[in-house]
Amino acid sequence: MIPALLLALLVAAPAAAEVETAEPTRTVLHCGELVDAERASLAGETTLVIEGKNLVQVAPGAPAPGSGDRLVDLRSHTCMPGLMDMHVHLTGEYSQRSDIERFRLDPVDRAYRSVAYARRTLMAGFTTVRDLGAGANVNVALRDAILQGRVVGPRIFTSGGSIATTGGHADPTNGWRADLMGDPGPKRGVINGPMEARKAVRQRYKDGADLIKITATGGVLSTAASGQNAQFQDDELVALVETARDYDFHVAAHAHGAEGIKRAVRAGVASIEHGTLMDDEGMRLMKKHGTWYVPTILAGEWVAEKAREPGFFPPLVRPKAAAIGPQIQKTFGRAYAAGVPIAFGTDSGVSAHGDNGREFALMVEAGMPMLEAIRSATWSSALLLGQEDRIGSLAPGKRADVVAVPGDPREDASLMERVSFVMQAGVIHRVPDGAAPR
Ligand SMILES: [Zn+2]
Repeated sequence: MIPALLLALLVAAPAAAEVETAEPTRTVLHCGELVDAERASLAGETTLVIEGKNLVQVAPGAPAPGSGDRLVDLRSHTCMPGLMDMHVHLTGEYSQRSDIERFRLDPVDRAYRSVAYARRTLMAGFTTVRDLGAGANVNVALRDAILQGRVVGPRIFTSGGSIATTGGHADPTNGWRADLMGDPGPKRGVINGPMEARKAVRQRYKDGADLIKITATGGVLSTAASGQNAQFQDDELVALVETARDYDFHVAAHAHGAEGIKRAVRAGVASIEHGTLMDDEGMRLMKKHGTWYVPTILAGEWVAEKAREPGFFPPLVRPKAAAIGPQIQKTFGRAYAAGVPIAFGTDSGVSAHGDNGREFALMVEAGMPMLEAIRSATWSSALLLGQEDRIGSLAPGKRADVVAVPGDPREDASLMERVSFVMQAGVIHRVPDGAAPR
Protein backbone atom coordinates (compact mmCIF):
# COMPACT_ATOMS: atom_id res chain seq x y z
CA MET A 1 0.00 0.00 0.00
CA ILE A 2 1.24 3.54 -0.79
CA PRO A 3 1.38 5.86 2.26
CA ALA A 4 -0.90 8.90 1.94
CA LEU A 5 1.95 11.42 2.00
CA LEU A 6 3.84 9.65 -0.79
CA LEU A 7 0.64 9.40 -2.81
CA ALA A 8 0.12 13.14 -2.44
CA LEU A 9 3.67 13.77 -3.73
CA LEU A 10 3.14 11.47 -6.69
CA VAL A 11 -0.02 13.30 -7.64
CA ALA A 12 1.51 16.72 -7.06
CA ALA A 13 4.69 16.16 -9.08
CA PRO A 14 3.32 16.44 -12.63
CA ALA A 15 1.34 19.58 -11.77
CA ALA A 16 4.51 21.30 -10.53
CA ALA A 17 6.31 20.36 -13.73
CA GLU A 18 3.50 21.83 -15.80
CA VAL A 19 3.67 25.18 -14.01
CA GLU A 20 7.33 25.52 -15.02
CA THR A 21 6.61 25.30 -18.73
CA ALA A 22 3.32 27.19 -18.83
CA GLU A 23 2.87 30.69 -20.28
CA PRO A 24 5.56 30.95 -22.95
CA THR A 25 7.23 34.37 -23.02
CA ARG A 26 6.33 36.51 -26.01
CA THR A 27 9.36 38.13 -27.59
CA VAL A 28 9.15 40.85 -30.20
CA LEU A 29 12.03 41.59 -32.58
CA HIS A 30 12.00 44.98 -34.24
CA CYS A 31 14.11 44.49 -37.41
CA GLY A 32 15.23 47.50 -39.44
CA GLU A 33 15.53 45.23 -42.47
CA LEU A 34 14.61 41.60 -43.13
CA VAL A 35 15.87 39.08 -45.70
CA ASP A 36 13.11 37.17 -47.46
CA ALA A 37 15.17 34.01 -47.82
CA GLU A 38 12.93 32.20 -50.26
CA ARG A 39 12.90 35.09 -52.75
CA ALA A 40 16.44 36.32 -52.00
CA SER A 41 15.08 39.84 -51.56
CA LEU A 42 14.66 42.42 -48.80
CA ALA A 43 11.29 42.92 -47.11
CA GLY A 44 11.96 46.23 -45.29
CA GLU A 45 11.27 47.10 -41.65
CA THR A 46 9.60 44.10 -40.02
CA THR A 47 8.30 42.98 -36.64
CA LEU A 48 8.70 39.34 -35.65
CA VAL A 49 6.67 37.92 -32.77
CA ILE A 50 7.90 34.76 -31.06
CA GLU A 51 6.02 32.55 -28.63
CA GLY A 52 7.87 29.63 -27.11
CA LYS A 53 9.89 27.95 -29.87
CA ASN A 54 7.96 29.33 -32.82
CA LEU A 55 7.30 32.45 -34.83
CA VAL A 56 3.67 33.46 -34.50
CA GLN A 57 3.67 36.68 -36.49
CA VAL A 58 5.72 38.34 -39.22
CA ALA A 59 4.37 41.82 -39.89
CA PRO A 60 5.65 44.82 -41.84
CA GLY A 61 6.64 47.95 -39.90
CA ALA A 62 7.33 48.73 -36.24
CA PRO A 63 5.75 46.86 -33.32
CA ALA A 64 2.66 48.32 -31.63
CA PRO A 65 3.81 50.21 -28.49
CA GLY A 66 3.13 49.17 -24.92
CA SER A 67 2.10 45.57 -25.50
CA GLY A 68 4.09 44.38 -22.47
CA ASP A 69 6.12 42.00 -24.61
CA ARG A 70 9.86 41.49 -24.33
CA LEU A 71 11.22 43.78 -27.05
CA VAL A 72 14.59 43.52 -28.80
CA ASP A 73 15.64 46.61 -30.75
CA LEU A 74 17.26 45.54 -34.02
CA ARG A 75 16.36 48.69 -35.97
CA SER A 76 19.95 49.18 -37.15
CA HIS A 77 20.21 45.49 -38.15
CA THR A 78 19.34 43.19 -41.02
CA CYS A 79 17.47 40.14 -39.72
CA MET A 80 17.41 36.81 -41.52
CA PRO A 81 16.61 33.17 -40.81
CA GLY A 82 19.19 31.27 -38.73
CA LEU A 83 22.11 30.37 -40.99
CA MET A 84 22.70 26.77 -42.01
CA ASP A 85 26.05 25.21 -42.87
CA MET A 86 25.67 21.98 -44.85
CA HIS A 87 29.23 20.77 -44.35
CA VAL A 88 30.96 20.85 -40.98
CA HIS A 89 32.88 18.43 -38.79
CA LEU A 90 32.07 19.55 -35.26
CA THR A 91 34.22 16.96 -33.50
CA GLY A 92 37.59 18.23 -34.69
CA GLU A 93 39.65 21.09 -36.03
CA TYR A 94 42.64 20.51 -38.31
CA SER A 95 46.07 21.39 -36.97
CA GLN A 96 49.66 20.24 -37.35
CA ARG A 97 48.93 17.83 -34.53
CA SER A 98 46.01 16.18 -36.35
CA ASP A 99 48.11 13.30 -37.67
CA ILE A 100 49.43 12.26 -34.27
CA GLU A 101 46.10 12.94 -32.58
CA ARG A 102 44.57 10.12 -34.61
CA PHE A 103 46.53 7.90 -32.22
CA ARG A 104 46.49 9.93 -29.03
CA LEU A 105 42.89 11.07 -28.68
CA ASP A 106 40.00 9.00 -27.40
CA PRO A 107 36.45 9.68 -28.58
CA VAL A 108 35.75 11.36 -25.22
CA ASP A 109 38.56 13.85 -25.87
CA ARG A 110 36.94 14.74 -29.16
CA ALA A 111 33.56 14.97 -27.46
CA TYR A 112 34.80 17.57 -24.96
CA ARG A 113 36.36 19.62 -27.76
CA SER A 114 33.17 19.44 -29.79
CA VAL A 115 31.24 21.21 -27.03
CA ALA A 116 33.31 24.38 -27.59
CA TYR A 117 33.14 24.04 -31.39
CA ALA A 118 29.35 23.69 -31.27
CA ARG A 119 28.98 26.82 -29.14
CA ARG A 120 31.24 28.87 -31.42
CA THR A 121 29.26 27.74 -34.46
CA LEU A 122 25.95 28.78 -32.94
CA MET A 123 27.33 32.12 -31.74
CA ALA A 124 28.49 32.81 -35.31
CA GLY A 125 24.83 32.63 -36.36
CA PHE A 126 24.65 29.05 -37.58
CA THR A 127 21.56 27.58 -35.94
CA THR A 128 21.55 24.37 -38.03
CA VAL A 129 24.40 22.31 -39.49
CA ARG A 130 24.97 19.08 -41.32
CA ASP A 131 27.86 17.19 -39.72
CA LEU A 132 29.51 15.07 -42.39
CA GLY A 133 31.62 12.53 -40.63
CA ALA A 134 33.33 11.70 -37.36
CA GLY A 135 34.73 8.63 -35.68
CA ALA A 136 32.92 6.67 -32.96
CA ASN A 137 29.63 8.52 -33.60
CA VAL A 138 30.64 11.43 -31.40
CA ASN A 139 28.57 13.65 -33.72
CA VAL A 140 25.44 11.56 -33.06
CA ALA A 141 25.91 11.94 -29.30
CA LEU A 142 26.57 15.68 -29.72
CA ARG A 143 23.35 16.06 -31.75
CA ASP A 144 21.38 14.41 -28.97
CA ALA A 145 23.05 16.41 -26.19
CA ILE A 146 22.14 19.64 -27.99
CA LEU A 147 18.56 18.48 -28.63
CA GLN A 148 18.19 17.66 -24.94
CA GLY A 149 19.54 21.07 -23.91
CA ARG A 150 22.64 19.65 -22.21
CA VAL A 151 25.01 21.42 -24.62
CA VAL A 152 24.58 24.74 -26.44
CA GLY A 153 25.00 24.38 -30.18
CA PRO A 154 23.38 24.25 -33.59
CA ARG A 155 20.66 21.77 -34.52
CA ILE A 156 22.62 18.92 -36.09
CA PHE A 157 21.81 16.56 -38.94
CA THR A 158 24.59 14.02 -39.01
CA SER A 159 25.96 11.19 -41.10
CA GLY A 160 27.67 9.44 -38.21
CA GLY A 161 30.85 8.04 -39.78
CA SER A 162 31.68 8.50 -43.48
CA ILE A 163 31.75 5.60 -45.95
CA ALA A 164 34.76 4.95 -48.21
CA THR A 165 36.37 2.05 -50.08
CA THR A 166 39.65 0.41 -49.02
CA GLY A 167 42.36 3.08 -49.04
CA GLY A 168 39.71 5.67 -49.95
CA HIS A 169 39.51 9.17 -48.53
CA ALA A 170 37.62 8.18 -45.35
CA ASP A 171 39.37 4.85 -44.69
CA PRO A 172 40.31 5.55 -41.05
CA THR A 173 43.55 3.53 -41.27
CA ASN A 174 45.18 5.29 -44.24
CA GLY A 175 48.89 5.77 -43.73
CA TRP A 176 49.08 3.59 -40.63
CA ARG A 177 51.78 1.01 -39.91
CA ALA A 178 50.85 -2.40 -41.39
CA ASP A 179 50.22 -4.11 -38.04
CA LEU A 180 47.89 -1.31 -36.93
CA MET A 181 46.16 -0.94 -40.28
CA GLY A 182 44.23 -4.22 -40.18
CA ASP A 183 41.33 -4.53 -42.60
CA PRO A 184 38.48 -2.23 -41.53
CA GLY A 185 35.05 -3.20 -42.84
CA PRO A 186 31.56 -1.72 -43.30
CA LYS A 187 31.03 -1.05 -39.61
CA ARG A 188 33.97 1.34 -39.62
CA GLY A 189 32.87 2.75 -42.96
CA VAL A 190 35.04 0.81 -45.41
CA ILE A 191 33.14 -1.13 -48.07
CA ASN A 192 33.99 -3.18 -51.15
CA GLY A 193 31.03 -4.35 -53.23
CA PRO A 194 27.27 -3.79 -53.00
CA MET A 195 26.66 -6.13 -50.03
CA GLU A 196 29.11 -4.26 -47.83
CA ALA A 197 27.67 -0.97 -49.07
CA ARG A 198 24.24 -2.04 -47.83
CA LYS A 199 25.66 -3.18 -44.52
CA ALA A 200 27.47 0.11 -43.95
CA VAL A 201 24.26 2.10 -44.55
CA ARG A 202 22.26 -0.16 -42.22
CA GLN A 203 24.94 0.13 -39.55
CA ARG A 204 24.59 3.92 -39.70
CA TYR A 205 20.83 3.58 -39.29
CA LYS A 206 21.52 1.50 -36.21
CA ASP A 207 24.03 4.11 -35.01
CA GLY A 208 21.35 6.81 -35.15
CA ALA A 209 22.57 8.79 -38.17
CA ASP A 210 20.26 11.13 -40.11
CA LEU A 211 21.90 10.76 -43.53
CA ILE A 212 24.79 9.09 -45.33
CA LYS A 213 28.15 10.59 -46.26
CA ILE A 214 30.39 8.92 -48.82
CA THR A 215 33.83 9.89 -50.11
CA ALA A 216 33.32 9.37 -53.85
CA THR A 217 36.86 10.45 -54.79
CA GLY A 218 40.23 10.99 -53.18
CA GLY A 219 40.62 13.97 -50.88
CA VAL A 220 43.17 16.52 -49.81
CA LEU A 221 43.86 15.78 -46.15
CA SER A 222 44.00 11.96 -46.22
CA THR A 223 47.32 10.13 -46.35
CA ALA A 224 46.91 8.89 -49.93
CA ALA A 225 48.42 9.75 -53.29
CA SER A 226 45.47 11.08 -55.28
CA GLY A 227 43.21 13.95 -54.29
CA GLN A 228 40.69 13.27 -57.03
CA ASN A 229 40.50 9.66 -58.31
CA ALA A 230 37.08 7.97 -58.45
CA GLN A 231 36.83 5.51 -55.54
CA PHE A 232 33.51 3.67 -55.95
CA GLN A 233 32.19 1.54 -58.81
CA ASP A 234 28.66 2.17 -60.10
CA ASP A 235 27.17 -0.93 -58.47
CA GLU A 236 28.50 0.19 -55.08
CA LEU A 237 27.09 3.70 -55.51
CA VAL A 238 23.68 2.38 -56.54
CA ALA A 239 23.62 0.01 -53.55
CA LEU A 240 24.51 2.89 -51.19
CA VAL A 241 21.88 5.26 -52.57
CA GLU A 242 19.08 2.67 -52.80
CA THR A 243 19.70 1.32 -49.31
CA ALA A 244 19.86 4.87 -47.93
CA ARG A 245 16.45 5.52 -49.48
CA ASP A 246 14.93 2.65 -47.43
CA TYR A 247 15.75 4.64 -44.29
CA ASP A 248 14.78 8.08 -45.62
CA PHE A 249 18.45 9.05 -45.71
CA HIS A 250 19.85 11.31 -48.38
CA VAL A 251 23.46 10.78 -49.51
CA ALA A 252 26.12 13.50 -49.44
CA ALA A 253 29.12 12.76 -51.65
CA HIS A 254 32.55 14.27 -51.10
CA ALA A 255 34.03 14.51 -54.63
CA HIS A 256 36.85 16.48 -56.25
CA GLY A 257 37.46 14.68 -59.59
CA ALA A 258 35.14 15.00 -62.60
CA GLU A 259 34.59 11.26 -63.10
CA GLY A 260 33.73 10.55 -59.45
CA ILE A 261 31.34 13.51 -59.42
CA LYS A 262 29.45 12.21 -62.46
CA ARG A 263 29.22 8.63 -61.17
CA ALA A 264 27.80 9.88 -57.86
CA VAL A 265 25.29 12.21 -59.52
CA ARG A 266 24.05 9.47 -61.87
CA ALA A 267 23.61 7.12 -58.90
CA GLY A 268 21.31 9.68 -57.26
CA VAL A 269 23.21 11.34 -54.41
CA ALA A 270 21.57 14.48 -53.01
CA SER A 271 24.68 16.67 -52.85
CA ILE A 272 28.21 16.95 -54.19
CA GLU A 273 30.67 18.35 -51.64
CA HIS A 274 33.62 20.46 -52.88
CA GLY A 275 33.09 19.49 -56.56
CA THR A 276 36.48 20.98 -57.38
CA LEU A 277 37.20 19.61 -60.86
CA MET A 278 33.59 19.50 -62.01
CA ASP A 279 33.36 19.70 -65.82
CA ASP A 280 30.54 21.05 -67.99
CA GLU A 281 28.96 17.61 -68.35
CA GLY A 282 28.99 17.24 -64.54
CA MET A 283 27.18 20.57 -64.21
CA ARG A 284 24.58 19.55 -66.79
CA LEU A 285 24.01 16.27 -64.95
CA MET A 286 23.62 18.04 -61.60
CA LYS A 287 20.99 20.37 -63.03
CA LYS A 288 19.18 17.45 -64.64
CA HIS A 289 19.14 15.39 -61.42
CA GLY A 290 18.55 18.37 -59.12
CA THR A 291 21.76 17.57 -57.24
CA TRP A 292 22.87 20.25 -54.78
CA TYR A 293 26.38 21.63 -54.97
CA VAL A 294 27.94 22.40 -51.56
CA PRO A 295 31.11 24.26 -52.54
CA THR A 296 33.17 24.75 -49.30
CA ILE A 297 35.29 27.52 -50.87
CA LEU A 298 36.58 28.41 -47.40
CA ALA A 299 38.23 24.99 -46.99
CA GLY A 300 39.88 25.42 -50.38
CA GLU A 301 41.22 28.83 -49.43
CA TRP A 302 42.46 27.53 -46.07
CA VAL A 303 44.36 24.49 -47.38
CA ALA A 304 45.89 26.54 -50.24
CA GLU A 305 47.17 29.07 -47.70
CA LYS A 306 48.57 26.39 -45.38
CA ALA A 307 50.22 24.61 -48.34
CA ARG A 308 52.48 27.66 -48.71
CA GLU A 309 53.74 27.17 -45.13
CA PRO A 310 56.70 24.76 -45.26
CA GLY A 311 56.19 21.72 -43.03
CA PHE A 312 52.57 22.45 -42.15
CA PHE A 313 51.15 19.47 -44.06
CA PRO A 314 52.67 15.98 -44.34
CA PRO A 315 54.64 15.56 -47.61
CA LEU A 316 51.87 13.52 -49.29
CA VAL A 317 49.20 16.12 -48.48
CA ARG A 318 50.98 19.36 -49.35
CA PRO A 319 50.95 19.08 -53.19
CA LYS A 320 47.28 18.03 -53.13
CA ALA A 321 46.36 21.03 -50.98
CA ALA A 322 48.28 23.35 -53.32
CA ALA A 323 46.61 21.89 -56.43
CA ILE A 324 43.00 21.42 -55.25
CA GLY A 325 42.62 24.32 -52.81
CA PRO A 326 42.73 27.35 -55.10
CA GLN A 327 40.33 25.85 -57.68
CA ILE A 328 37.11 25.56 -55.68
CA GLN A 329 36.19 29.24 -55.88
CA LYS A 330 36.51 29.26 -59.70
CA THR A 331 34.44 26.09 -60.00
CA PHE A 332 31.80 27.62 -57.77
CA GLY A 333 31.67 30.72 -60.01
CA ARG A 334 31.19 28.53 -63.10
CA ALA A 335 28.58 26.32 -61.43
CA TYR A 336 26.61 29.34 -60.24
CA ALA A 337 26.66 30.86 -63.73
CA ALA A 338 25.55 27.51 -65.19
CA GLY A 339 22.55 27.36 -62.84
CA VAL A 340 23.61 24.40 -60.66
CA PRO A 341 21.56 24.42 -57.41
CA ILE A 342 23.81 25.61 -54.59
CA ALA A 343 23.58 25.01 -50.83
CA PHE A 344 25.97 26.68 -48.42
CA GLY A 345 28.83 24.74 -46.82
CA THR A 346 32.30 25.44 -45.45
CA ASP A 347 33.90 22.16 -44.28
CA SER A 348 34.58 23.94 -40.96
CA GLY A 349 36.76 21.67 -38.89
CA VAL A 350 39.29 22.11 -41.68
CA SER A 351 39.27 25.87 -41.00
CA ALA A 352 38.30 27.00 -37.50
CA HIS A 353 34.75 26.59 -36.19
CA GLY A 354 33.03 29.95 -35.91
CA ASP A 355 34.69 31.34 -39.05
CA ASN A 356 31.90 29.86 -41.20
CA GLY A 357 30.58 33.31 -42.18
CA ARG A 358 33.67 34.04 -44.26
CA GLU A 359 32.24 31.76 -46.96
CA PHE A 360 29.73 34.51 -47.87
CA ALA A 361 32.46 36.94 -48.93
CA LEU A 362 34.09 34.20 -51.02
CA MET A 363 30.79 33.41 -52.74
CA VAL A 364 30.12 37.08 -53.49
CA GLU A 365 33.67 37.50 -54.81
CA ALA A 366 32.99 34.66 -57.28
CA GLY A 367 29.85 36.31 -58.64
CA MET A 368 26.89 35.32 -56.46
CA PRO A 369 24.89 38.29 -55.11
CA MET A 370 24.83 38.42 -51.28
CA LEU A 371 21.10 37.83 -50.95
CA GLU A 372 21.39 34.68 -53.05
CA ALA A 373 24.32 33.54 -50.90
CA ILE A 374 22.09 34.05 -47.84
CA ARG A 375 19.33 32.05 -49.57
CA SER A 376 21.84 29.21 -50.14
CA ALA A 377 22.54 29.23 -46.37
CA THR A 378 18.87 29.26 -45.37
CA TRP A 379 16.07 28.28 -47.73
CA SER A 380 18.18 26.14 -50.10
CA SER A 381 19.85 24.31 -47.22
CA ALA A 382 16.43 23.60 -45.70
CA LEU A 383 15.33 22.13 -49.04
CA LEU A 384 18.42 19.93 -49.16
CA LEU A 385 17.61 18.65 -45.66
CA GLY A 386 13.89 18.27 -46.43
CA GLN A 387 13.21 20.57 -43.46
CA GLU A 388 11.66 23.52 -45.30
CA ASP A 389 8.38 23.17 -43.37
CA ARG A 390 10.21 23.90 -40.10
CA ILE A 391 13.27 26.04 -40.83
CA GLY A 392 15.00 28.05 -43.57
CA SER A 393 12.61 31.00 -43.80
CA LEU A 394 10.70 33.27 -41.43
CA ALA A 395 6.96 32.62 -41.39
CA PRO A 396 4.31 31.99 -38.72
CA GLY A 397 4.42 28.44 -37.39
CA LYS A 398 8.10 27.93 -38.19
CA ARG A 399 10.88 27.54 -35.64
CA ALA A 400 12.07 30.92 -34.36
CA ASP A 401 15.65 30.68 -35.65
CA VAL A 402 16.58 34.31 -36.30
CA VAL A 403 19.96 36.02 -36.66
CA ALA A 404 20.92 39.60 -37.44
CA VAL A 405 23.95 41.54 -38.64
CA PRO A 406 24.70 45.21 -37.85
CA GLY A 407 24.09 46.82 -41.25
CA ASP A 408 23.56 45.90 -44.89
CA PRO A 409 25.52 42.76 -45.86
CA ARG A 410 25.16 43.66 -49.56
CA GLU A 411 27.45 46.62 -48.92
CA ASP A 412 29.88 44.81 -46.62
CA ALA A 413 30.12 41.02 -46.96
CA SER A 414 32.28 40.79 -43.82
CA LEU A 415 29.19 41.66 -41.76
CA MET A 416 28.26 37.98 -42.16
CA GLU A 417 31.31 37.23 -39.98
CA ARG A 418 29.92 39.57 -37.31
CA VAL A 419 26.49 38.18 -36.54
CA SER A 420 25.44 40.05 -33.42
CA PHE A 421 22.02 38.59 -32.67
CA VAL A 422 21.31 34.87 -32.43
CA MET A 423 17.99 33.25 -31.55
CA GLN A 424 17.50 29.54 -31.90
CA ALA A 425 14.05 27.98 -31.37
CA GLY A 426 12.97 31.11 -29.49
CA VAL A 427 15.96 31.19 -27.13
CA ILE A 428 18.20 34.26 -27.37
CA HIS A 429 21.89 33.30 -27.30
CA ARG A 430 23.44 36.59 -28.36
CA VAL A 431 22.26 40.21 -28.42
CA PRO A 432 24.03 43.32 -29.73
CA ASP A 433 25.25 45.85 -27.15
CA GLY A 434 22.44 48.12 -26.11
CA ALA A 435 19.71 45.91 -27.59
CA ALA A 436 19.10 43.67 -24.57
CA PRO A 437 15.45 42.67 -24.28
CA ARG A 438 13.27 44.97 -22.19
ZN1 LIG B 1 34.41 17.53 -44.97
